Amino acid sequence: IVVLGIETSCDDTAAAVVTGDGCVLGETNRHQHAAHEAFGGIVPSLAASHHMASVGEVVRDALRQAGVGGSGGSGRSDGLAGIDAVAVTRGPGMAASLCVGLAAAKTLAAVHGLPLVGVHHMEAHALVARMGRGGAVAFPFLCVLVSGGHTLTAVAHGVNAYTAIGATRDDSAGDAFDKVARELRIPWLTTQDGGGPGAALERMAAAGDAARFAMPVPMDKSASAASPDFSFSGLKEHVRSLRRANAFDPAIPRDQADVAAAFQRAAATHLRKKTALAARRARDMGVAITCIVAAGGVVSNHAVRAALAAVAAAEGVPLECPPPRLCADNAVMVAWAGIERLRCGLTDAYTIDFIQRWPLEALKGTA
Ligand code: ATP
Ligand code: FE
Repeated sequence: IVVLGIETSCDDTAAAVVTGDGCVLGETNRHQHAAHEAFGGIVPSLAASHHMASVGEVVRDALRQAGVGGSGGSGRSDGLAGIDAVAVTRGPGMAASLCVGLAAAKTLAAVHGLPLVGVHHMEAHALVARMGRGGAVAFPFLCVLVSGGHTLTAVAHGVNAYTAIGATRDDSAGDAFDKVARELRIPWLTTQDGGGPGAALERMAAAGDAARFAMPVPMDKSASAASPDFSFSGLKEHVRSLRRANAFDPAIPRDQADVAAAFQRAAATHLRKKTALAARRARDMGVAITCIVAAGGVVSNHAVRAALAAVAAAEGVPLECPPPRLCADNAVMVAWAGIERLRCGLTDAYTIDFIQRWPLEALKGTA
C-alpha cells in the first residue's frame, strides 16, 4: 500500500509518499519561516497564499521523488499510478490553510478514483511514532502532544479512539517558547530545519545557567497542583515582567542564555509533572499503557525529552518519540495516519469539509 499525504494546516506546505511498511518514498516540505518572521508570528492570510503558490509543485516533487506520477521526460505526468490513496490534514488548523491542501487532495483523489482519507493533525503527530516499528508501539499508549497549537495528554486506545486527559488552559508550550524567544530577541532559525524560534531558544539555552533567574513552575501550588492540565501563560508573563523590570537585558548574550535556560527548565519540569499525573490518571482508568508516545515540535527539545523520559522510566514503560524531523509538521505523518486509518476501513467522501476546531476525543464521531 502506498499513500500520498498532504499537509497544509499551519505554515508548512508538505507532501509525502509513504508505504505500508513505513518507507518514505518521497517527501517535500516548504517552510514559510522567512515569510512570517518579520511579523513575529504566523499571519493566516499570508500562510494561505504561500500554500496556494506552493501546493502544486510540492505535491509534484514528492511524487517525482517517489517515482510515481512523474514525467517521463515529456513533461507530462503519468497520473497517480502506484498511489493507492490520498491522505490530507482535515483539521485542526487555520481555515484558509486547511482549505488549500484539502481542495488539492480531494481533486486528486476524485479525478483518479482513489480513496480519500481526512486526517486529524494531532492523531497524525501521535501515530507517526508507530511508523516502521512493527508492533513495537502498541495500543493502548499515553500520548503527550506538545506543539505550536496544542499541549495535551490523552490515552490512545486505538486508531480513531482517544480519551483526553489534560490540556492547556491557556497557551500552548510551543507558543510560550516562541514568545519567550521574542522577549529575548532571539532571531528565528530561518534555516530549513523546521525548528522555528523554539529551536533557536534551545540552542541559546545550551550555554546558559538555569539557576540564575528564578522561574515559577506553573500550577505547582494550590488546588491546580493535582490537575493534569497545563498552563504556560504565567511562565511567559513572568519572563515578560523580568524584562520590563530590566532584570535582564536581551542585548547581552549571557542574559539571553540564562533566561532561556531557566525558562526551558521550568517548562520541562511542568511537562514532566503533568505527564506523570496523566500516567497515573490512565492507571486509575484501568488502562495499562504499553509506552508513552511524545510528539509535536516541542518534543524535539532535548530538555523536554529528558523530562518525559523520566516519567516513562518511573512508569516502567519506554518513551517513544518520532525523530525530530517527524516531530515538527510534515506530510509523512499525514500519509502514515492515512495508512493506519485505511487499514481500519476509515475513508472519507470527496465532499468532506475542513474542521477548524477538532478535539481528538471527537474523532470517533466524525468517521
Ligand atoms: P499544531 O500541531 O498544534 O497545529 P504546529 O504544527 O504549528 O501546531 P509543530 O510544528 O508541531 O506545531 O511545533 C512547532 C512548535 O514547536 C513551535 O512553537 C516551535 O517553536 C516549537 N519547537 C520546535 N523545535 C523546538 C525546540 N527544539 N525546543 C522548543 N520548542 C521547539
Ligand atoms: Fe503540528
